Amino acid sequence: MTTTSPAKPARRTPRARTGARASAESRIVRSIGEAIADRRLPPGTKLTEESLAEAFGVSRERVRKVLLLLAQRRVVTLIPNRGAFVAKPTPKEAREVFEARRVIERAIMERLERMPRPLPDDVLDKLRGHGALEDAAELAADRKAMIRLSGQFHLLLAEFAGNATLTGILADLIDRSSLAIAAFERRSSHTCSADDHRRLIAALIGNAPGEATALMIDHLDEVERQLDLEAKADTRIDLKAIFADEHEPA
Ligand SMILES: [Zn+2]
Repeated sequence: MTTTSPAKPARRTPRARTGARASAESRIVRSIGEAIADRRLPPGTKLTEESLAEAFGVSRERVRKVLLLLAQRRVVTLIPNRGAFVAKPTPKEAREVFEARRVIERAIMERLERMPRPLPDDVLDKLRGHGALEDAAELAADRKAMIRLSGQFHLLLAEFAGNATLTGILADLIDRSSLAIAAFERRSSHTCSADDHRRLIAALIGNAPGEATALMIDHLDEVERQLDLEAKADTRIDLKAIFADEHEPA
């Protein structure tokens, strides 16, 4: 938490200002997305413009733009005269998100299974490298890293499959499934099991026909099975404390 108000930023050229604004906005979008994924911002949390502007050291106008962006992605809900809230999926929406993920990720896995074997070296290196990162995060019991890496694993597979439209749809679905998991998880576990990801990597490298696709569907079923479709009570959240280290440099 900052104890003094930030100094005015130095004057910049118009182009530099526009670029800086865009990158500050995407940084705030990412920070809020990560805070939602690792459960610091539970569904239903009120996102007050003033607190976020103070937390990130930016104008309220910029915060408003970020909230609009997040609302378009259905991560934030805007309620007239009440403000912005972290979206709170209903049990029906949660099931729909997982159903959509199974459709999209089946298509992704089928594309991957059709790729000629052996897989290209750069794909193999990235798969094994990512597996090693997940193992390290698990060994260190670094829950935040595990959550971040497990989402990245699914997007990595989408990128290898080479359909940017599917990758874009999946990126939004992953954020929305983070919300569903945060709203309905039974116990404090993270999104995906690193064991499942290890098996998926081995199946993709080994390429027994259909095995990787079947494992992915089982994996998504298992994540959905961990959900308890009963809403939890709201708790009071201190936005400034959550984003204490995110203040724009003076
Ligand atoms: Zn997973």
